[in-house]
Amino acid sequence: MAIETTLSIIKPDGVKRNLIGEILKRFEGAGLRVVATKKTALTLQEAEGFYNVHRERPFFASLTQYMTSGPVVVSVLEGENAILKHRELMGATNPAQAAEGTIRKDFALNIEENTVHGSDGSETAKDEIGFFFAGAELIRSRG
Ligand code: ATP
Ligand code: MG
Repeated sequence: MAIETTLSIIKPDGVKRNLIGEILKRFEGAGLRVVATKKTALTLQEAEGFYNVHRERPFFASLTQYMTSGPVVVSVLEGENAILKHRELMGATNPAQAAEGTIRKDFALNIEENTVHGSDGSETAKDEIGFFFAGAELIRSRG
């Protein structure tokens, strides 16, 4: 199995409800390493850029409003099979369909305010990590 890196976002509903530690603990407990992490706030333009693939979807305006409603915590996670492992820890997009013990099952408020984001493939992971972190930040934080 390959060592992968992936991007995690603790969305505004998770940060507002003081879930940062609880969520990062789940990643570490599953063997994922937090390579880099920071709290930041997205501008509307940044949220629209990040979710550009959803631009034509009916929920796009609401999603980007929500993603700018408060700070987020973005992290780079690394480990064996990290992309899929992270998606499994998160659970299904809609918390009503998320498996027991997943982050979204335990914490998501609804299909939009679903507490976490995770990259869905190696190309998106690379793009999304680059969206938030400069290469030098990643090099300095390793080791
Ligand atoms: P993410 O990309 O945030 O990790 P995901 O890959 O599980 O989540 P996507 O289909 O990429 O889900 O949707 C991106 C985000 O858009 C979702 O996480 C959720 O916040 C929001 N979203 C998705 N579907 C809906 C919907 N039907 N109504 C409202 N918001 C939605
Ligand atoms: Mg997605």
